[in-house]
Amino acid sequence: MSTVYDETMFILKKYGINANKNLGQNFLINDEVIEKIIDSSDIKKDDLVIEIGPGLGTLTSRLLEKAGRVIAIELDKRMISILNERFALYNNFELINDDVLKVDLNKLIYNTTNSIDGIKSVKVVANLPYYITTPIIMKLLEEKLNIESITVMVQKEVGQRLTAVPGGKYTGAISYCVNYYCIPSEIVLVPNSSFIPEPEVESEVIKLIIRKEQAVNVNNEDLFFKFIKASFMQRRKTLVNGISNSGMMTKDEITELLKKVGLNEKTRGETLSLEDFANIVNNI
Ligand code: SAM
Repeated sequence: MSTVYDETMFILKKYGINANKNLGQNFLINDEVIEKIIDSSDIKKDDLVIEIGPGLGTLTSRLLEKAGRVIAIELDKRMISILNERFALYNNFELINDDVLKVDLNKLIYNTTNSIDGIKSVKVVANLPYYITTPIIMKLLEEKLNIESITVMVQKEVGQRLTAVPGGKYTGAISYCVNYYCIPSEIVLVPNSSFIPEPEVESEVIKLIIRKEQAVNVNNEDLFFKFIKASFMQRRKTLVNGISNSGMMTKDEITELLKKVGLNEKTRGETLSLEDFANIVNNI
């Protein structure tokens, strides 16, 4: 068995902890996968790493060796005392006991980069709680945080969707949103046996490198994302049907708009590129 497996079993036993399924607690016990996450996140001494859901501290201990500073955000109070005890001797460790979705990350990043010398960039690294993967990713992207990359473990199907290219088998509305803000890639598939308890789904590590400028120019971001979401409400439907069913526009209006940008009325949402969507929405 792996070193990290022994370590995890020891901590669980010592503190009498059972994983809480409702909090998406699946602890990583695969040394190779942990190394892969650390390598692919490319952490340097001048990085601030924000870790979401440190749990028992398995990834955290590796992050603390590599990064200038690690801020871990954990909701489960039971983990807080474990982590505080485990990392008491590290002066580059900070722990926040809160729901990550409620934390003002812009403020946190601003305060940390301004108060700690030598921090040049910010990276997010996590084995995410799967029940809130999408809200967490959307928060990290939509709040336009000053971060360089996001390297996270997610459920395999979610990872495929987040990293999908327009026109691909797994493309969904969220793929466009991710591609708008970042350059996504799949790092490694992770078998269920890499965790205790084993999750019911397969996993994968993905990396999102945040673009310095968004991929396309859009006049109205809200409208842009609303339009894309409406186009994917009923997959396989034509854009004309999808948009008119959403109530955003009438069939005639959307047909006219498509004509104006040189697309035909049989066009389906998943065949369009980000540029196509930007062009359509900028012409509304
Ligand atoms: N990082 C550890 C590891 O790799 O073994 C644990 C990962 S486990 C999949 C997800 C962690 O996220 C758990 O520790 C859980 O308590 C925490 N968590 C769940 N919901 C959260 C939330 N809303 N905010 C912050 N942490 C949360």
